[in-house]
Amino acid sequence: MAAVVETSRAGPAEAAPGGAGIGLREVTPPWAPGADLLGHSHQGRPISLYRVGNPRATRTVVVVGSLHGSEPAGIPIALGLTAMTAPPGVRLVVVPTANPDGDALRRRQNARGVDLNRNFPGGVHRSTPGDTYYPGPRDLSEVESRLMAGLLAELRPAALVVYHQAMNLVDHCGGDPALTRRYAAETGMRAVRLPRYPGSMATWLHGAQPACTILTVELPARVSATVRSRHRTAVLRLAARVGAA
Ligand SMILES: [Zn+2]
Repeated sequence: MAAVVETSRAGPAEAAPGGAGIGLREVTPPWAPGADLLGHSHQGRPISLYRVGNPRATRTVVVVGSLHGSEPAGIPIALGLTAMTAPPGVRLVVVPTANPDGDALRRRQNARGVDLNRNFPGGVHRSTPGDTYYPGPRDLSEVESRLMAGLLAELRPAALVVYHQAMNLVDHCGGDPALTRRYAAETGMRAVRLPRYPGSMATWLHGAQPACTILTVELPARVSATVRSRHRTAVLRLAARVGAA
């Protein structure tokens, strides 16, 4: 638990991932109080974590707003969830961004040029620095992926929702496909199964925790406030279904 009990030393403005780069004024409601510090990125930016709902709930749903810095649309969706009410029996754990350096640099990779979504255990470390999908020198070589892997191993969530862009679909990556289909229907997206990418957060988690329902939500390139709200509602409904299971 050590990774998540450290109280944030950063104020709301400092904790904002990506600074002005992601349009924080769009975020509604603004930063919720009560962030904990999961850890720091390679360049020292805070990676914040919010708990929503009864901490003693037996089921956990984890939401990751962003893993790729060039795909920030999920961040305001995740932040909005931090001020909402979790359904009974479930707690939400929200990480608005797992890659604040990438957000600040507005690029897919982290500050070391590593695609974090190829750096989880099971990655194939053949490509070289500078490649789009460079997986790093070895599994979990990056502090950001180590923090997320540690969190997910500790929490053992019933469901994980990770936001990306911009394919406009929901990729079912593990667990109960009916939950993925419902989420997709409620957000007006297609539910599909993309190839499993070695070293991705979803591929690793599915192997490690096969019961976890894993949704990779590929948002479209542009996401309106209405669509953000729809996704928050879909997350809460998913959480309610998981909590009632
Ligand atoms: Zn992505």
